[in-house]
Amino acid sequence: MDEFVFESIDLIQIAIASYLAIGVLLATVGPAGKAISDEVRRVSNPLTYAFNNQTPPSATKIFLLRFLLMLGMTLLWSILIWGVLKEHRLQLEIEKNRIEKSSGLWFQHMGGCGSIHCRDCQHTEKVTSFIHGIDSSYSGFQCQGCGLLTSLTGGGPGRANQYKESLECSCGGHYEREKRLFCPNCKSENLAYSMEFIT
Ligand SMILES: [Zn+2]
Ligand SMILES: [Zn+2]
Repeated sequence: MDEFVFESIDLIQIAIASYLAIGVLLATVGPAGKAISDEVRRVSNPLTYAFNNQTPPSATKIFLLRFLLMLGMTLLWSILIWGVLKEHRLQLEIEKNRIEKSSGLWFQHMGGCGSIHCRDCQHTEKVTSFIHGIDSSYSGFQCQGCGLLTSLTGGGPGRANQYKESLECSCGGHYEREKRLFCPNCKSENLAYSMEFIT
């Protein structure tokens, strides 16, 4: 009987020790460790206080904050980790999106109208990205099937995203405005845009 009780206590101690060890590990490395470091860095940064004429916290207070954050993470990691992971995934998603949009040509980043030039096959073509008149506007689209570049007529103020023409190309493909442009001739995304005029 005694032996059984001691064994159970041993098991509980091992379980608690493992739980805390995982907590310490998570609070030090990985996304949670980074979140704690970021928070401590934000609090220690004098610029955080400069605008409100506040005095930055002392080194002791900052140490205490880091200690409490790590202690909280060590004890409550099984609850907190989900929030941390969700935030981490969101950050990765934003970063991926930013990198993706920073290369190639996008209608959203091209003003007015002009021409695109393919650096791979030297194909050049006139293209309208966005022009607005008094009661209508013209927005550039590209068929994702055949690569045809076209412009569709949108309504007036507040109705710029309602198009008079169909978003269906005669090839059966779909016109898209929110995709990276590709060369209608060779499908390369290695394009340059030169604007000719803007309204
Ligand atoms: Zn098409
Ligand atoms: Zn090309």
